[in-house]
Amino acid sequence: MTTPVLTLRGLCKDFGAIRATDQVNLDFFSGEIHALIGPNGAGKTTLINQIAGELKPDAGAIRFEGQDITFQPVHRRSALGIARTFQATNIFNGFTALDNVALAVQARDGHSFRFWKPARRVEPVRDAALTALGQVGLVHRADTRASRLSYGEQRLVGIAMALASSPRVLLLDEPMAGMGARASAEMVGLLRRLKDRMSLLLVEHDMDAVFSLADRISVLVYGRIIASGTPEEIRRSPAVREAYLGEEEITLENTATGLQVETHA
Ligand code: ATP
Repeated sequence: MTTPVLTLRGLCKDFGAIRATDQVNLDFFSGEIHALIGPNGAGKTTLINQIAGELKPDAGAIRFEGQDITFQPVHRRSALGIARTFQATNIFNGFTALDNVALAVQARDGHSFRFWKPARRVEPVRDAALTALGQVGLVHRADTRASRLSYGEQRLVGIAMALASSPRVLLLDEPMAGMGARASAEMVGLLRRLKDRMSLLLVEHDMDAVFSLADRISVLVYGRIIASGTPEEIRRSPAVREAYLGEEEITLENTATGLQVETHA
């Protein structure tokens, strides 16, 4: 049996009276896409924030390659090999795609920011940044200002920035959000290519993407994992159907790829 690269054991996080993470146990394996789904407010981002180190759990443990990292700071986790992308793009609009990724490379290498010499002019930094841009298929846009990139391309720059740290675990918070069908399809292709080299934890509301990409899916409701398994097991799980159907705001119907979850305002 393969050893998990990342494990969560008994993780709990409260915000006042809200239990956003409730006794979560999960294992993530290298070469797998593990999707985390659940209704709005189920606690998906809160879980990602704890894995990335931006939030401290109230109880439980997080282990990365056997090492307890529960209370390690973000930069230490990043150095160990955990990277994340954000729901909103976190790039500088006035900088080129290459400059944005070069800054992420410098952060990885622990360089202080040399404002008198742009990061892209430091040869090894430039090479590493171009490699990361190449991994997301954006080398031809390297010198384009971020503000002139399409929304989908900006999301790709965000992923290249995360790839700059050569992660072994990549946490993706809604990478398809706000994208059109074509950009979403390209993102699906990219994530499929990336998974051979790392473990991907995907939080995503696009169920077609989730069910076509994920090797395993875990379902979070009110901070608790109510089901975890292959897409087929999740599709058939009575607990999942009941949990979604129990939510008045959510309808669930069969599509070619399985569950279609729609949230209504
Ligand atoms: P969505 O799919 O809408 O992004 P989510 O599953 O990512 O939702 P979280 O954002 O993790 O859910 O929120 C889980 C619960 O914790 C919600 O009830 C939310 O209101 C609450 N919450 C999250 N962050 C905070 C915070 N900093 N302070 C107080 N409550 C919070």
